[in-house]
Amino acid sequence: GAETRRMFQSLLSGDAPSLGFENRYVRRDGSLIWVQVTVSAIGDGQSSADVFASLVTDISDRKRTEDRLRYNAMHDPLTDLPNRDLLMLRLEMALQRIQQQPNYTFTVLFLDLDRFKFINDTLGHLVGDQLLIETAQRLSSLVRPVDLAARLGGDEFVVLLDGLSDWSQVKPQAENLLAAIKSPMRVAEREISLTASIGIVVGSSTYTKATDLLRDADIAMYRAKEKGRNGYARFQSKYLQQLIDRLQLEQDLQRAIADNQFVVVYQPVVELMTGAIVGVEALVRWQHPQKGLLSPGSFIGVAEATGLIVPLDRWVLRTACAQVAQWQHTYPSAQSLRVSVNLSAKQLADPTLAEVLETLLEETGLPGHSLTLELTESLLVDNSKQVLQLMAQLRRLSVKLAIDDFGTGYSSLSYLHQFPFNALKIDQTFITHMDTGTVNADIVETIVALSDRLHLTTIAEGGESAREIQKLRQLGCELSQGYYFSPPVTADEMAQFLKHSAPFLDKIMNEILIVP
Ligand code: C2E
Ligand code: MG
Ligand code: MG
Repeated sequence: GAETRRMFQSLLSGDAPSLGFENRYVRRDGSLIWVQVTVSAIGDGQSSADVFASLVTDISDRKRTEDRLRYNAMHDPLTDLPNRDLLMLRLEMALQRIQQQPNYTFTVLFLDLDRFKFINDTLGHLVGDQLLIETAQRLSSLVRPVDLAARLGGDEFVVLLDGLSDWSQVKPQAENLLAAIKSPMRVAEREISLTASIGIVVGSSTYTKATDLLRDADIAMYRAKEKGRNGYARFQSKYLQQLIDRLQLEQDLQRAIADNQFVVVYQPVVELMTGAIVGVEALVRWQHPQKGLLSPGSFIGVAEATGLIVPLDRWVLRTACAQVAQWQHTYPSAQSLRVSVNLSAKQLADPTLAEVLETLLEETGLPGHSLTLELTESLLVDNSKQVLQLMAQLRRLSVKLAIDDFGTGYSSLSYLHQFPFNALKIDQTFITHMDTGTVNADIVETIVALSDRLHLTTIAEGGESAREIQKLRQLGCELSQGYYFSPPVTADEMAQFLKHSAPFLDKIMNEILIVP
């Protein structure tokens, strides 16, 4: 080539003492050989030489090694799929191309195996590796040669569909990938069925960086997981804002604990026969510096996901116990006032919970039997062992347990036999619709009858109208905690109620006067 000719020229003119180049030749038998050629001028170094020595070396081995190294640098050793680096190169190229050719399109599918960590932990990582290899093979067999199936690492794969962005074409591709992964894999004498979640993002000229594409595909993938796994979700720009909001919330939450921005409000639990307050449920509120007073629905989920729920719930527990102990001493009508506090899954998993409770009761002076912890059904299903252990420890402290939101979760009445609860809270949805359909009234009646037989106290969550309260009484429900009597109120407002022995007597009388 021109370069070689230029080198020869400088060699001939005496400007350079030697030249070297590498070239590829085909042998007579058809095999390929790489050689390095070095040509040196032999002379006195003064005048231009006319004798040259040429050395030709077979460098095929070195070339092969170099190729191998180059290949290894761009491929995943386990699955042999292109790795993250090669993917990023391809994505950068695709983005460049889209800038130059506005008609060019492509789509990125971000694929993450569902519950793979669990499989890895239970079946061992050798099985896990086999599953990853099998997944990789299935993915690469499904994409066209122009596409790219890459492994990002772990159980994350990315498929780049070249030239495709039309949903009518992308959707079946995503479905094919899911179907391929779902069909059982034979590994270590087992048949294992995997599923995956796919996040989909269409390449566009608004993207300047490949990492942004991957980030959005990743966000969409999380959406697919949230929708229940084994599915796909297309990225929407609002997802990014939601993610940013969530990160902001996490940060704010962290600060909120240190800055004491939480408050506990109390909702009375009222005896339907007398209108007396027999207990209160402690419910947390967040006095957010910018957003105002927030309900737990808007932050408990994030608190649980980040683990901040543990210090938060400890604080609620301590505040509520101290508060109720003080009320018990101050108001004659509150001498045996009980307090309920909600328990989260994280707390349940904390082996020191019983110890913490014991110290807390001692320090606040609240008798153990005045405290009830509320658990939801879903907590039972996932942690039945821990719950039984905890129940034994709590019995020693006389602390009671209630099952919260009963009827919304797995709703198995068998839990009531299996776990020695003290109280049952019928979920609000049954109470609200008790009037409109007879089905809910029947359910409520059945639950009340069953819990009577098991000596459980039944508490109706909700009860917003006199009609509902009347109905509850007819069905034999003893207690109600609902807006009809009072929404959750501040400690000061609660103290006003506690000054009277039966603050809701007039409301009960009202209700009795209603014609059925
Ligand atoms: P929950 O334990 O079932 O609490 C009852 C919820 O129903 C409360 O909502 C209460 O305000 C609401 N409620 C009571 N009566 C009525 C009524 O008549 N009508 C209607 N529409 N609603 C009524 P809140 O305070 O927003 O709490 C929501 C959930 O957040 C609670 O449900 C509980 O699961 C959780 N939570 C609240 N505080 C804490 C806490 O300190 N720690 C933990 N881990 N969770 C908490
Ligand atoms: Mg509750
Ligand atoms: Mg509830």
